[in-house]
Amino acid sequence: MDQSSKTPLLTRLRHETRRRELSIISSRRVTPNMLRLRLGGPELADFVSASPADHVKLFVPDGTGGKVMRDYTPRRHDPEESWLEIDFALHDAGPATLWALQARPGDRAEIGGPRGSLVIGGPVASWVLIGDETALPSIARRIEELPPGATVTSIVAVSDIADQQVVETKADHEPIWVHRKDPADATALATALEAVALPPQTFVWIAAEAGVARALRDAVLARGVPPEWLRAAGYWVVGEADASVKDL
Ligand SMILES: Cc1cc2nc3c(=O)[nH]c(=O)nc-3n(C[C@H](O)[C@H](O)[C@H](O)COP(=O)(O)OP(=O)(O)OC[C@H]3O[C@@H](n4cnc5c(N)ncnc54)[C@H](O)[C@@H]3O)c2cc1C
Repeated sequence: MDQSSKTPLLTRLRHETRRRELSIISSRRVTPNMLRLRLGGPELADFVSASPADHVKLFVPDGTGGKVMRDYTPRRHDPEESWLEIDFALHDAGPATLWALQARPGDRAEIGGPRGSLVIGGPVASWVLIGDETALPSIARRIEELPPGATVTSIVAVSDIADQQVVETKADHEPIWVHRKDPADATALATALEAVALPPQTFVWIAAEAGVARALRDAVLARGVPPEWLRAAGYWVVGEADASVKDL
């Protein structure tokens, strides 16, 4: 058999990078610790997000008159109605989290990007998506966008049952939720992962706190998954502001 047909197809797309001035349309709690903002405006007209693993840069006040940037996933985009939703995993501190909590309809919002998209395709027989609350927007979007007949298992860590979400999809989806108090502890996710089969042609996607993502990546590689069937990212780093490791 042609071995190339056994390799996932990773396509990198570049997009024109520009800043967009938008306004807040609505703010609502999806679950107690997940806040969803809907942003809209004419500057979204040519917005493109080709992959659930995309991110936009969100420009928010730094508290001293300047601005800082943080990365967020385009959770859902409606080009017809010209809106974009972003889900914020609420945590104790941080300018983006503070800004999101205070955002009210009519307030301005500024985003940049996505600069590019990594589209994963080819002979993927099944997906295993693993992550914490910060990865849940991407994981939920990917599950929603999978076609009928696709097989996907998600393993997501949240603090308790109230933060679990129902994800609508035409794919064959097995959701696994784990609960833990310390988001920098990989144990709960690693234990759940041990019980999940990883047959050939399973694409494994991981995003969480960087140390957690690294531990999970190592566990997946130790089970013999070829590196080209795996993407892992640290979406944040415990104890460090504005930190991520996009490609572990
Ligand atoms: C590609 C990509 C996509 C992302 N998509 C999303 C998304 O859709 N939704 C989302 O909520 N996040 C997402 N993140 C993570 C988000 O960018 C970080 O959590 C970011 O640090 C939050 O900014 P902040 O201003 O609130 O906190 P910061 O100022 O960056 O950090 C302040 C402190 O809070 C800690 N911290 C940061 N995040 C968390 C957390 N989640 N839980 C506990 N402590 C934390 C830091 O370690 C630091 O000590 C994404 C990250 C990447 C790289």
